[in-house]
Amino acid sequence: MINRKLLLKKRPIGLPDEDTWELIDEKLPDLVEGEILIEQQYISLDPAMRGWMNDSRSYIKPIEIGDVMRAGSVGKVIKKSGKNKFNLGEYVTGWGGVQTHCISNGENLYRVDPTKSNLSTYLGVLGMPGMTAYFGILEEAKVKAGDVVLVSGAAGAVGSLVGQIAKIKGCKVVGIAGGEKKCKFIKDDLGFDDSIDYKNGNVIKEIKNKCPNGIDVYFDNVGGEILDAALIFLRRNARVILCGAISQYNNRDSIKGPKNYLSLLVNRASIKGMVVFDYAPKYEKAIDEISGWIEDGKILINEDIYEGIDNFRSIFLKLFNGNKMGKLILKVKT
Ligand code: NAP
Repeated sequence: MINRKLLLKKRPIGLPDEDTWELIDEKLPDLVEGEILIEQQYISLDPAMRGWMNDSRSYIKPIEIGDVMRAGSVGKVIKKSGKNKFNLGEYVTGWGGVQTHCISNGENLYRVDPTKSNLSTYLGVLGMPGMTAYFGILEEAKVKAGDVVLVSGAAGAVGSLVGQIAKIKGCKVVGIAGGEKKCKFIKDDLGFDDSIDYKNGNVIKEIKNKCPNGIDVYFDNVGGEILDAALIFLRRNARVILCGAISQYNNRDSIKGPKNYLSLLVNRASIKGMVVFDYAPKYEKAIDEISGWIEDGKILINEDIYEGIDNFRSIFLKLFNGNKMGKLILKVKT
C-alpha cells in the first residue's frame, strides 16, 4: 500500500513557493504490535501551519525539514496489529499530517462519530478552530450580555464562531472581513449586527461609525493595522484577545507591532494572548455545548472543502489571499 505524503523541504521566507514542499509516494511499512493504520479523509488547513514552518521558538516545536507537513486530520482505522484501544472501521481525529495514510499507536487520537456530525466538522466548529472560538470568547474575553464585541477575520473559521457565540450571549457583534460577499454573509447568514469591509474602506472611520460608544471586547485574528485601529476604540475595562495575527505571518521582515497601546493604560484595559491547547481537558464540554447550539439552529456551519493533496499549495494559500469562505479543509482523494 502506498502513502502519498507532503514533506517540508525548505523554510519559506514570505509566502510558501513551489520549492517549499515535496510530494512523495512511499510504500507503507508493516505495522508493529499495537499500531493502527489510518486512511485519512479530511485534513485541516490552518493559518498556524505557516508559523510551524519557521525555525523559531513558539508554543509548539517547528516542523523539521524532511518531516511530513504537520496538520490536524480525521480518518478511518483500516488496519490494526495486536491490541489498540481503537477498532477497525472507527473514525479518529488527531495530528495525521498532510498525507493519505498515517500509522499511530493511538496516542493523542480521539474517537469521532460520523453519525452525529459530518467528519469535516470535527476539524471546524467541533475541532481546533471551534475550541479556540469557544474558550477565547467565553473564558478569555468573559463576554456578558450588552458587551460590544469587535472581531476580525470574521468570516473565517474562528471569527465566524466567535461572533455567533457572542450573539448567543447577548452581545452586539461587529465583524471585520475582506470584501462585500463576506461582509454580507456575516450579517445576513451569521446574524452579526454589522460588518466592516477592511479591503474597501477606512477601518478607523468604520469602527467609529459602527461602534459609536466604543468596544468592550476586541477579538484579534489578524494583528497589524486592524489591531491598531481597534485599540483606539477601547472602552473602560475592555479586553483584547490576541488569538492570531494572520496579516503578519508571511512578513519578510519584522512584525508590525501596535502603536496605539497606551489606550490600554487610559482605559484600564487588558490584552491577553491565548493558545487553544491549554483548554484540551475541557474540549468535551465545549463540543457538547456547540453541538447543542448547532441542533438548535443557533450556529451555522460554514466549511470550504477542496480535494486532493496534489493541490495542497494552492489550497493552503487561500488562507492568506482570502479566496475561501469559512473553515478551509482538504479532502483526501484515496
Ligand atoms: P481563517 O480565518 O479561516 O482564515 C484566515 C482568514 O484571514 C482569511 O480567510 C482572510 O479572510 C483573513 N486574512 C488573511 N490575510 C489577512 C490580512 N492580511 N489582513 C486581514 N485579514 C486577513 O483562519 P482561522 O482558522 O479562523 O484563524 C484565524 C486566526 O486565529 C489566525 O490568525 C490563526 O493563526 C489564529 N488561531 C489561533 C489559535 C490559538 O490557539 N491562539 C487557534 C486557532 C487559530 P478575509 O478574506 O476576510 O481577509
